[in-house]
Amino acid sequence: MAAEIHSRPQSSRPVLLSKIEGHQDAVTAALLIPKEDGVITASEDRTIRVWLKRDSGQYWPSIYHTMASPCSAMAYHHDSRRVFVGQDNGAVMEFHVSEDFNKMNFIKTYPAHQNRVSAIIFSLAAEWVISTGHDKCISWMCTRSGNMLGRHYFTSWASCLQYDYDTQYAFVGDYSGQITLLKLEQNSCSVITTLKGHEGSIACLWWDPLQRLLFSGASDNSIIMWDIGGRKGRTLLLQGHHDRVQSLCYLQLTRQLVSCASDGGIAVWNMDVSREEAPQWLESDSCQKCEQPFFWNIKQMWDTKTLGLRQHHCRKCGQAVCGKCSSKRSSYPVMGFEFQVRVCDSCYDSIKDEDRTSLATFHEGKHNISHMSMDVARGLMVTCGTDRIVKVTGSGVPTCVCASACTCPRGRAVNRQQTSSPVPFPVGRLAFPLHKQPCNLQPADDPE
Ligand SMILES: [Zn+2]
Ligand SMILES: [Zn+2]
Repeated sequence: MAAEIHSRPQSSRPVLLSKIEGHQDAVTAALLIPKEDGVITASEDRTIRVWLKRDSGQYWPSIYHTMASPCSAMAYHHDSRRVFVGQDNGAVMEFHVSEDFNKMNFIKTYPAHQNRVSAIIFSLAAEWVISTGHDKCISWMCTRSGNMLGRHYFTSWASCLQYDYDTQYAFVGDYSGQITLLKLEQNSCSVITTLKGHEGSIACLWWDPLQRLLFSGASDNSIIMWDIGGRKGRTLLLQGHHDRVQSLCYLQLTRQLVSCASDGGIAVWNMDVSREEAPQWLESDSCQKCEQPFFWNIKQMWDTKTLGLRQHHCRKCGQAVCGKCSSKRSSYPVMGFEFQVRVCDSCYDSIKDEDRTSLATFHEGKHNISHMSMDVARGLMVTCGTDRIVKVTGSGVPTCVCASACTCPRGRAVNRQQTSSPVPFPVGRLAFPLHKQPCNLQPADDPE
């Protein structure tokens, strides 16, 4: 038998390594402490806890801190050991964790929002803490003075946030299903563009500063990859989850996207293959195959003495078709349709068996995941959820351990060969230089 040669890394099944129990309510955030066998968790039960792995292999709490209000979001910066916790009452609190992870000191409170904090990002270079909240706004505050620097309001709850550290661009997802791209300045901001594509509230975002890809997950169970760097407005749809997509992580080295849904589904998408954009749905007053009128087309129904039909759309060609002309279902992974969707009869005939080969692997996390984070360098994943459980999993995603890979101060694995010359940002008028060799730099010393 010929040896099988894998041109791309194969992903194996995630393996449960540890289960952390003890929270009395939903766990809203869990983060792995880099280079330590430790996890920081924040929960609706108003506690923030640091868990360290003991010799027994079990995680035990080394810090247990009670807050005034349920914890709704968290950010941790390992080099400075700063923890930022967002709460249901709208406040963001900053703490400093001791070297041995046995003590946590309160630093200051930021009056960030009027309502539940949904996401937090800390930039050491700018000395900013940026947050979004259910008061429909993004705010950024100075971590030296504690002062509010700027605020921008949206039309609905701001639910998630990503940030480009070098250029101060922020991506904010909201409950209307829209993503807004803003350029933050010291005391002002400008809206660069809005990205519309989801049919439900945005639950999570992931920005990859090297390949300049934005991924969004939403309550319409789908993921969209926005190719910001490609400058052509290219978007890829990824449909494989059966519930709200809650968390995303893109692995640069292996070009895999990991996504988690609230039903516990974990998907690993191969983004190293050529994929096709899903078509726009076409509008027509009659079936674009058999020309029978749709039910609102009274005139043609009267002229031809026929009964109007319901309109459907073929997912592959986007044509408006009647039920009879689109009776078959097929998966079409190259367009992101990992499960069977409606296709017209001619598209069905054009899909070959090999076109149905899945381009993602699906796993069962076996709990209600609300948040996931990964330590790419160690191949670890931590998930937490409404079932109050935190799971540490061997991610099953192969990670590159070659000499050219390392972990940059921002916690992202980077490959030196991938850091090339600056490329202008496609949207708007501002140049958007590429993140240069972050692995060799301290965050404060960024060039340009
Ligand atoms: Zn028809
Ligand atoms: Zn079709």
